[in-house]
Amino acid sequence: MKSILSSELQEDFLRRGFSRRNFGRIASLMAAGTTLPFFNEAALAQMSQRGGPIPPDAVRINSNESPWGPCPEAADAIHNIVQRGGRYLYEQTNEFTALLASQEGVPAEYVRAYPGSSAPLHQAILGFCSPQRSYVACDPTYEAGGEAAKFVGARSVLVPLRKDWAHDVKAMAKADPKAGLLYLCNPNNPTGSLTPRSDIEWLLENKPAGSVLLVDEAYLHLSGAGACTDLVAKDKEIVILRTFSKLYGMAGLRLGAAIARPDLLKKITDYGAFAVPVTAVAGGIASLKLPTLVPQRRKMIGEIRQDTVEFLEKRNYSVVPSFSNKFMVDTKRPGQQVIEALQKEKVYVGRLFPAMPTHIRVTVGTREEMDKFKTAFLKVMA
Ligand code: PLP
Repeated sequence: MKSILSSELQEDFLRRGFSRRNFGRIASLMAAGTTLPFFNEAALAQMSQRGGPIPPDAVRINSNESPWGPCPEAADAIHNIVQRGGRYLYEQTNEFTALLASQEGVPAEYVRAYPGSSAPLHQAILGFCSPQRSYVACDPTYEAGGEAAKFVGARSVLVPLRKDWAHDVKAMAKADPKAGLLYLCNPNNPTGSLTPRSDIEWLLENKPAGSVLLVDEAYLHLSGAGACTDLVAKDKEIVILRTFSKLYGMAGLRLGAAIARPDLLKKITDYGAFAVPVTAVAGGIASLKLPTLVPQRRKMIGEIRQDTVEFLEKRNYSVVPSFSNKFMVDTKRPGQQVIEALQKEKVYVGRLFPAMPTHIRVTVGTREEMDKFKTAFLKVMA
C-alpha cells in the first residue's frame, strides 16, 4: 500500500528512531482517519463510566464542560451563520486566526485553528516524541498526551506534583535528557492548581536540548493568571494550546487553537489541519470580541466553586486550592467507591486519577447542580 505519509515525513520518522514497521502502523491508522486511538476529556469521561449511559436528569459534573453554553452574542452569530453552512468559509477561519493572534500579540501565521485542542495535542506528541524522544509530564495530569505517547512508542516519564500542587519544573527538566516534549497544563487538570509563571520560564530555559515545552492553557481563562503567548512572540521553543470548550462554553461546537513559531506549528500541522466548523468559528469570533465575557464568567464560576469548597471544608474535607472550573476533594476513602455511589444518586463526577486515589474531581456546575452534589455527597459519605 502506498503510504499516506509524505516522503519528507517518512524520512523524519526514520531520523527520529521509528522503525519502518512503526510508521507503517501509524500511516495505516492515519489512513483510517477516525480510528486513531486518541481520546478527549468527553471520551475519557464516557469510558470511565460503569453502569450504562448517563440518565437525562443526572447532574453532569464529570468532564469540565460548561452548563452555560456559548454567550448570547456567540449563540446569535452561530444562528446567523447556519444558512451559509454549505460552504467551508475559510475567510471566517482566517478572521478568527487574525483576531486571536492580534489579541495574543503574535503574527497571524503563529496561530492555527483546530476543532478543539485535542487534535493539536495529539499531533504535537506525534511531531515531537518518538521511541527515542520521551514524553515528560506531571502526575496527575490530563491523560490524553500520555495515551498519544504510548501510541507512538515514546517513553512517558511522569513526575509527581510538588507539595504546593504546582508542576515540579526542576524534576521535569532533569527527568530525561532525551525528552521530546514536556507537557505543562496550567491550571492543571485534574487539580485546578497553578504553576507560577517564573517556574514556566525557568523550565523553558532549562529543558533538555532539542525538546519543546507545550503549555496547555485549556483552563487559563478561569484562573486570571497571565498567558504564556508572549513567550511564543519571543520565538521560544514553546507551543500553547487553547480551547473554547471550557470558559467559552463551546465543547460540543468544537473550537481550539495551537499557537507557536511557524516551524514548531508545522510539526503539528504535518499530521493534519482540518476545516473548522463555521458555527464554531462564528461563535469563537463573537466570544473574542466581547471583553466582558472572560472576567464575568470567571467571577461567576469562582463564586460557585468557593461556595461548594467552603461547604466541604466546613465538614472537614480538604480540597486542593483550585483556579479552575473543577476541584479535587479528598474523600478519605477509595475514590472509585464514592464515584460509583454518587452515580447511584444520579450525580456524575470525574473519573479516578490513580495518583490521588482518595480524591474525586468535581466540575463546577450551576448553583442548582452543586446543591444536588452537596446533598448526594453528604448522603454517600454518611
Ligand atoms: N486539554 C485539557 C487539559 C483538557 O482538559 C481538555 C478537555 O477537557 C482538552 C485539552 C481538550 O479539549 P477539547 O478537545 O474539547 O478542546
